[in-house]
Amino acid sequence: MIQENLARIRGALPEGVKLVAVSKFHPVETMMEAYEAGQRCFAENRPQEFCAKVPRMPSDVEWHFTGHIQTNKLKLVLPYARLVQSVDSLRLLQAIDRWGAANDKTINALLQFHLGAEETKGGFDEVGIVSVLREYADGAYGHVRFRGLMGMATFTDDESVIRSDFARIRDLKQRMNAAFPQLSDFTELSIGMSGDWRIALEYGATIIRIGTAIFGHRQY
Ligand SMILES: *Cc1c(COP(=O)(O)O)cnc(C)c1O
Repeated sequence: MIQENLARIRGALPEGVKLVAVSKFHPVETMMEAYEAGQRCFAENRPQEFCAKVPRMPSDVEWHFTGHIQTNKLKLVLPYARLVQSVDSLRLLQAIDRWGAANDKTINALLQFHLGAEETKGGFDEVGIVSVLREYADGAYGHVRFRGLMGMATFTDDESVIRSDFARIRDLKQRMNAAFPQLSDFTELSIGMSGDWRIALEYGATIIRIGTAIFGHRQY
């Protein structure tokens, strides 16, 4: 089943769009089915689960992190994550930058834009994104490399709401690219989950994050 799910999704992806398998709450055995089917990029949401799984999966897995990180859990995530997609506050950003300085590492990161209507979805508002990128363009956050934006659309069946969310983040990214042309690495737009990834492609997604549509429903 996992193999068929992956094949179906991959078959619909334009070249250059990265499929991230969101494996939270699924055991390593299940993840290995995806691995055997050629999947190499996986993402987790919880620091503890993330760092428990890393050593149990093959070493050529590219790990992303997509959940909230308390600053005291950074050491569980940052040594292994190729991309932290969920930089959702200034406090976290500053802590990541400090960790990078202390460990002589540069952390690839996406700024999480608070997109959906739900208050529980974290992230920067537009003013916050602009202000971080302005500081970054002026030399701040020297141990972070911002690669783009991540967002989660409103959880709804109303497609027009999802489209308007995706349009907002796409437009914000375009405006940031125009305002900060020197940030030539700021190319990624991580939007699209199991329920809305086909729509996300229409809005320029470069990364889609898929859990349920690959692995089935999660056991909580
Ligand atoms: C869980 C999660 C996903 C995957 O959700 P599905 O609907 O199962 O595809 C994607 N992105 C983030 C940030 C998540 O927390």
